[in-house]
Amino acid sequence: MIGSGFGGLALAIRLQSAGIDTLILEQRDKAGGRAYVYHDQGFTFDAGPTVITDPTALEELFALSGRRLEDYAPMLPVSPFYRLCWEDGYCFDYANDQAELDRQIGLKSPADVAGYRKFLAYSEAVLQEGYVKLGHVPFPDFRSMVRVAPQLIKLESYRSVYSMVSRFIQDPQLRQAFSFHSLLVGGNPFETSAIYALIHALERQWGVFFPKGGTGALIEGMLKLFQDLGGEVRLNAGVDEIVVEKGKVSAVKLQSGETIPCLLAASNADVVHTYDKLLRNNALARRKAASLRKKRFSMSLFVIYFGLKGERPELAHHTVLFGPRYRELLKDIFHGAELADDFSLYLHAPSVTDPTLAPPGHSAYYVLAPVPHLGNADIDWEVEGPRYRDRILAYLEKHQIPNLTRDLVTCRIFTPFDFRDELNAHVGSAFSLEPVLWQSAYFRTHNKDAQIDGLYFVGAGTHPGAGIPGVVGSAKATAGIVLDDLGGRKVA
Ligand SMILES: Cc1cc2nc3c(=O)[nH]c(=O)nc-3n(C[C@H](O)[C@H](O)[C@H](O)COP(=O)(O)OP(=O)(O)OC[C@H]3O[C@@H](n4cnc5c(N)ncnc54)[C@H](O)[C@@H]3O)c2cc1C
Repeated sequence: MIGSGFGGLALAIRLQSAGIDTLILEQRDKAGGRAYVYHDQGFTFDAGPTVITDPTALEELFALSGRRLEDYAPMLPVSPFYRLCWEDGYCFDYANDQAELDRQIGLKSPADVAGYRKFLAYSEAVLQEGYVKLGHVPFPDFRSMVRVAPQLIKLESYRSVYSMVSRFIQDPQLRQAFSFHSLLVGGNPFETSAIYALIHALERQWGVFFPKGGTGALIEGMLKLFQDLGGEVRLNAGVDEIVVEKGKVSAVKLQSGETIPCLLAASNADVVHTYDKLLRNNALARRKAASLRKKRFSMSLFVIYFGLKGERPELAHHTVLFGPRYRELLKDIFHGAELADDFSLYLHAPSVTDPTLAPPGHSAYYVLAPVPHLGNADIDWEVEGPRYRDRILAYLEKHQIPNLTRDLVTCRIFTPFDFRDELNAHVGSAFSLEPVLWQSAYFRTHNKDAQIDGLYFVGAGTHPGAGIPGVVGSAKATAGIVLDDLGGRKVA
C-alpha cells in the first residue's frame, strides 16, 4: 500500500482483515495524509478533515474483525453541524433538528419551509442511489456506467447542485446554505452534479461527529487496528518507483534505494503522481498520465492553523463565513488565474467540543480559504502566503474573533505549494479530480488498472471521490476487486 490517507488505511485494514499480508509505505513521518496532525506549543492541530460523516462506514472497518470503533476512537456528536454566517450579520445554525430547522427557515423565508422539505426528499433519494447503492461499487467498464444511467437521468444528475437547490429554495442565503456542501469534496456547486446534493441527507441521516482527541486520534485508531491485525507500517518510506515486469507489478523501489518485491501494489498517492512519476518507466502509464493531466482538478486550499490564549465558547465548532460574492467568487476560485480580493472561509474551532486540543485556558483553530490550483493560477505562495494569512486573520478578528492578534500564541500556514510538495498533489489540488459528472464513476480513475496487472488505486482520485466517506467507500470497492482477483473471496 503506497500512502496512508484515510483511503489507504481503510484498504489496508480490509486486506489485512481478509488475511492478506499488507505493508503500508508512507513517505511522511506520520500516517493520515491530508489528515496529518501538527503539534505546536501544546496545541494539537488536525491538518485536514474535521467533519466526520457516516461513522457507519468507519464502524464497518472495525466490525470486519469483530472489533468496535468506539474502543479505538470514540466519536463525539457535533451540534450545530455548522454555523453559517454572512457579512450582513445573518447567521443560520444548521442543526439535525427538523423543528429547529423549520423555525430558522421560516424566520428567514416562510415559503422555503415547504421547499426545504422537498429538497431534503430529493437529497435522500440521491443518497440511496448515489451513496448507499453505488458509493462502494467499482465501475470497471462502460457497461457498468450504462446500467446506472437511467437512474442518474431520473435524478437529473446532469443539473448542478445549485440549480437543484434553487428549484426548491428561493432565498439567496438559504440557497447558499444548502448548496455549499459540494465544496467539502472539491466541487463547485454551480458545476458539480446534483448527485452531490446527497451530502445534505448523509449528514441528516447519520449526523456530524468529531473524534475525541481530534481526527488524528481516529487515524491513530485505524493504524492501531491495522497493526493489531498483524499489518506492518513503514513511515518515512517514500516510494520512488513501482516496478513493472512483463506487464505485471513485481516490486516497489523506495527513495532510499531499497527494493521490496510484492504481488500487487495499491496506490493511495495522487493518481497523476502515480502514473507520471512512480510508473515513469512504463509507456502505458505515461500515456495514462498525459490523459489525466488534461482533466479538471479541484481547487486548492490555503489553511492557517493557530492557537489563542483564552477560550471562545461562543463560537460553533464549524463555521462557514460567506463573503460578499458567491457564484462569482467560486468562478474565480475554480477558473481564475489570480487570487480574488474577497474570500469565503471555513473556521474550525475544535476546542469547543474537545478542550484537550489546547493547553488549559487556550483554544485551537484552523481557518481555510478555497483558492485556485497551481495549474490555473501562477501565484508565488512564498510571497503571497504571509500576506494572505494576515488578510484572513484581520478579517476573522473583525467578524468572528475579537482580540485575535492580541491573543495569538502560535500560527502556521499550508499553501497550494505544500499540497504539491508535501503530498505530491497534481497542481496542488486539495481534492484530486474535480467531481463533475464526466469525471465521476466510470470516468474517474479505475480502482484497478486495466493494463498493468497487480496495480490498484484507492483514495480521492478514484470512484466515488474525495471526503472521508468517499475514500473509505473507494477502499471497499478496491478491496472487493483485489479479493476477487486473489481467489474469489468477497468483501463484506
Ligand atoms: C484542509 C482539508 C479539509 C478537509 N475537510 C474534510 C472534512 O471535514 N470531511 C471530509 O470528509 N473530508 C474532508 N477533506 C477531504 C479529505 O480529507 C480527503 O478527501 C481524504 O482525506 C483523502 O484521503 P486519501 O485516501 O485520498 O489520501 P490522502 O490523504 O491524499 O493521502 C495520500 C497519502 O499518500 C502519501 N504519498 C504520496 N506519495 C507517496 C509516495 N511516493 N510514497 C509514499 N507515500 C506517498 C502521502 O504522503 C499521503 O499520506 C478535507 C481535505 C482538506 C485538504
